[in-house]
Amino acid sequence: MTVTETISETSAFAREARQNGRTIGFVPTMGALHEGHLTLVRRARKENDLVVVSIFVNPIQFNNPDDLKKYPRTLEKDLEMLKGAGCDLAFCPSVEEMYPDNHRKSYDFGDLARVMEGEFRPGHFDGVATVVQRLFEITHPHRAYFGEKDYQQLQIIRALVRNEHIDTEIVPCPISREDDGLARSSRNERLTPAMRKAAPYIHMVLEEARSLAANHTAPQIVNFVKAKFSDHPHLKLEYFTIAGGNTLQAVEGRISPGDYGFIAVFAGEIRLIDNIRLI
Ligand code: AMP
Repeated sequence: MTVTETISETSAFAREARQNGRTIGFVPTMGALHEGHLTLVRRARKENDLVVVSIFVNPIQFNNPDDLKKYPRTLEKDLEMLKGAGCDLAFCPSVEEMYPDNHRKSYDFGDLARVMEGEFRPGHFDGVATVVQRLFEITHPHRAYFGEKDYQQLQIIRALVRNEHIDTEIVPCPISREDDGLARSSRNERLTPAMRKAAPYIHMVLEEARSLAANHTAPQIVNFVKAKFSDHPHLKLEYFTIAGGNTLQAVEGRISPGDYGFIAVFAGEIRLIDNIRLI
């Protein structure tokens, strides 16, 4: 496995691969890799001649400076895991390499970016789209792999590729979970033992919401979920929204096929997100 830190080495690798007629599968990450990331890498391995993974904690997508400072960084272990999963090139740039001009582009994703993570994390999706567009320019992948764990991000990236006429296929990958149902996340490492024990409750409540979907309206299920968190000792609900899987706009009445429940919860200072397809 090749490890690069510069844009020029990385784009040269990608250019040469393309010239030799080889397909590139790309997985952008912020490191602190876990089994969830590896499901994306293995899928990319199966579907492409070469696999490129980026590890870059993107400062401009963090709205909370403390979250950025405390984001786990485990580069040596990450590289070992990537080697084991069949990655060909790991691109690990510095902030200066990626942003010599400290520049965040401004995008118009319409209503997609105004709800949920867009509402509670101002500027977040501009930061995500800026880094992904830049990474796509550098690695010019045939396919790029994104987890449905960050479902709204996946839809934003699909919009980015459409709006900017980027010739990369976006491949969605299902949420990878721990045995107790908790969605795998780099932030789980920061949970205290008590919070870690409490956190599977989030997925459990989502499953209960799903079981209600056939014969309850969206507001009834939203109220049900809110009540489930109202006096929880460890978990504080930030939002629970039922929305169409494509539009991400809130559902007001009956649930239709393709509607999802989206949730953000604070476990102490750690913010966790998850989602579930309801019907
Ligand atoms: P991150 O390092 O958190 O930016 O995640 C990098 C990629 O891995 C994103 O496309 C995430 O959606 C995806 N990912 C992270 N956790 C999971 C998970 N538990 N299941 C599936 N994909 C995930």
